[in-house]
Parts: sequence; structure tokens; C-alpha cells
Amino acid sequence: MSDKLLGFAMAWIFYWSIFAVSQLTTTYQYLTVGTTENTFISAISENSEQEITIDSNHYSSEEHSSNVEENPGHSARKDICFNDEFWNSVEAEIGPERKNIVVSFPNNLKNEGVKTAYIKAIPSNTYMYESFSNAFHMHSINQVRLNLNDSSHKVSLLLLNGLDTKYTRNVNTWKVQLAVSSYEEEKCHEQTFFELTNLNYENIKDLKVFYKENIINPAFELNYDVRNIGEEEYLNEFFQSQNHSKMHNLLPEPHGAGLALLDFTLSKDEDYIERPLHHRDRLEGKVVLGLFGNVLEEDLETVNTILRTLNIVAPNLDISYSDNPSYVNLPIHFSNCDNLFSDLVNDCKDKIAGSYYPAKYTYSKSQFGWIWVDSRYKSDFRKHVLVHEIGHALGLGHNLCTDSVMSYADHADYMGYFTSLDLMQLRILYDPKISYFFSSSHMATTLDIDTVQYKEYRNDKGAMCGAKQSGWEDLIRFQKGDITVDQILQR
Ligand SMILES: [Zn+2]
Repeated sequence: MSDKLLGFAMAWIFYWSIFAVSQLTTTYQYLTVGTTENTFISAISENSEQEITIDSNHYSSEEHSSNVEENPGHSARKDICFNDEFWNSVEAEIGPERKNIVVSFPNNLKNEGVKTAYIKAIPSNTYMYESFSNAFHMHSINQVRLNLNDSSHKVSLLLLNGLDTKYTRNVNTWKVQLAVSSYEEEKCHEQTFFELTNLNYENIKDLKVFYKENIINPAFELNYDVRNIGEEEYLNEFFQSQNHSKMHNLLPEPHGAGLALLDFTLSKDEDYIERPLHHRDRLEGKVVLGLFGNVLEEDLETVNTILRTLNIVAPNLDISYSDNPSYVNLPIHFSNCDNLFSDLVNDCKDKIAGSYYPAKYTYSKSQFGWIWVDSRYKSDFRKHVLVHEIGHALGLGHNLCTDSVMSYADHADYMGYFTSLDLMQLRILYDPKISYFFSSSHMATTLDIDTVQYKEYRNDKGAMCGAKQSGWEDLIRFQKGDITVDQILQR
């Protein structure tokens, strides 16, 4: 294929896969949150954490029930959006401690018929958040909702330096804006007050990699400080993990259905289309994960479970976790998809719950790309999105099998672990005997896969999805937290 044609094909695949991801996640959202927004609200608030800001423009039931009749006086003031005199009288300044913003209005906003008012901080020089370097800047966006009953406000606006892993593109200037909606006008009024930098403002912190001790197994922590547990204990852990990777030899043999699944992904219409093996990337080299943003302890636990599972299924894959951002080459960003974030970063609103940006499409090349997860989600669905996106990074595509973390099927469960169909694919993709991808038949020969059986699965997707290979049960139970790896070894 000529370079031009290849380039065109790559671009086509890229744009198509973004669309495919949005389709999947839209389906996810639809199914998870139910058909009403209220289900969504209760699902979120049930587990809500401090750091979660639910964008009330869309998710607060209080606002949905609001209407003209319930807001006496508002219609008399519907011209508030165009009342230049009012907005020109708004005063804003940096507080004397230089840690907050003080804003005062001529009157309280509720009396003026205002629906919502936000103070927003937006990085001044970031226009494209979807490149690897700038993706870190998503954490530098912040907004605080004003209480409409007050006419003066002291807003403690915490800003984060959105570092990249080389510390070369920190955010150093933020625009401070006021954004107001009324009952008639979603974009009623917007004005920029001034800019914040570390010269005039002190409530600025560095973005850090999320880390808690004793969650990631020391053998999977890059540059683990042995002083934390003592050398003997560390060696113990290290040899144990070596031992576990030997469990690879006990795994079920490469299976025709696993190879058939690796031949396909889904089109935007959710039909199977072929994705030739030589277009499939597996992670190679030293891969270092790091979690950023609205991360919960359970996310780090999920990452640890994945690392331990990969240690067995893909023993030659050198993958670890680091709390030092300069080593991280596959960052995973957690942030809330609120209106502001959606507008500025990735148009996630009502479309996507997570995405994987492969390295070759992230403009400034990162080694292994990056992942985004909507941190508004909790528990099982959150875990599902994280494992699904890491599945993409590992090289898995979508399927229509009900029992797969990579599934687009309408009635599939949102499992937060790799099922046997996923593990069968990973087992083949990362088989130590495979040094390069040439073709499926080459792979079949190298891995002693029954070619006739493989072709039957290729031609019958129902059979491919229904393939049952025993021997994966323990690894699945381990991922679900029902059993430890040592217990598996002792059997
Ligand atoms: Zn996907």
C-alpha cells in the first residue's frame, strides 16, 4: 500500500474508532443510567464523594422541576441577560490572602431571575486538550457554582498546574470568567474578569500521580523504595511475582475463538469488520501507568488487579505503576464530564464515558497514548470503563459477545474484569512465542491453533462468542476478589 493510501486508511480507522467509542459509551450511559435522568442522579449521589461536582445545569432535579410559575418575578426580569448596567457594576478581585476570588453583584442573582452562575478558571493558552502533553491540562479547569441568594461571594478557587510528564508545558495562566444562565437563556451572560498566575495567586497546587501505600504490589511499582518494607520482604514479593508469571505455563492453550476474535472489531453501525492483525498494536517495551485527577482508592486497586493478571497472562509484558509522573508513559486521567469540561476537552457529554487515545494519534507522540475516564461514575460501571479502556490500550477491539468487557452487545453486563473471551485474546496477543504480527494464519501455525476450528469461529460469530474454554475460572475469580493468586497456586 502506498504511504498516501496507508495514511488515508489510518485516518479513516482513527475517526471511525472515535465514533465507535462514542456509540458504545452512549449505549453504556443509556443502559446504566436508565432511561430517565433521575436514575442517573440517584445513581451518582448514592455514592457521591466530596470531589464530585455534579453539573447542576443538567443533573439537578431541582432545576428540572423549575419552571416559570415556580419562579415568581423572573419573567419581569427576563432582560437580565442584556442588562449592561447590571453586569458593568459587577466587581471582582483577587482576595487579600491571594487564595480566593471576591465577586460582588449589585443585587442577589436570584431576584434578577438568574438560574445558575459559575466562576470558572480556564487555562489561557490551551486550545487542544486531546494531545498527550496537553491532556494533563484537563485537570487545570475548574468552576465553582455561586449561591444565588448572596450578592457577594468569596470563591476559593483551587487551581492545578496541569503538568505533562516532562514538566515542559505547565499551565501558568488562567482566565477567570463569570458564566450565567437564566430561565430563558442558557448562555445568558459571560464575562472575563482577569488572569491568574503564580505571581498574583497562591491557591495553585501541582498535579500529582495518585498514590496510596500498600495497594500496588511492590513488584509492580517502578523504582519501589525497598526501605518501605525491607529488602527481604521485597525480594519475597519479587520472587512471588516471578513465580506467578510461571503460572503462564498452566494457562489453557491458545484457542481458535480467541484468534478469531482478534481478527475483528466493530464498525460505527456495530457490525463486525475485519481489523487485520498487523494493524493491531500490543504494548511493547517498558510501560508505566499512572492515575491522575479525581482518582479513588478503588481505581488503584483495579489497576493492581490488572497488573497481577497481566503478570500471568502476558508474563513478558513489562508493565508497572509509578508515583513519579516523569516515568509515566501511559497516563490515565479521571475527570468529571460536566458541561464546561465537555465543551473544552472532548465533547463527552451524553456521548462517552471513557476513551483511549492511541500513541500514534496523539499529535505530540507519547509512548503508549493515554486514557480518559469520566469520574462521575462509581463502583461497577467505573471499574468497567477503566478495564475496557486498558483493554484497548492492550490491543483489544470491540465485539458483540455478551460475556466480554469489550462488548457492545445490548444486553451485556458491565463486568469490571477480563472474562475468558478477553483472556483468550490477551493470551494469544502476548504469547512469548509471537515476536511480530504477520497474519492470523501465521499466528495459528506458531501457536499450534487448529486452523479449521479457527476458520469455523471466524465464519460463525455466535459460535465465536459462545466458545467455552475451561481453565480461566480461577483467574476470573481472582479479578473479582474471590481468591488470591497464592490460593490458585496452592491448588
Ligand atoms: Zn471501546
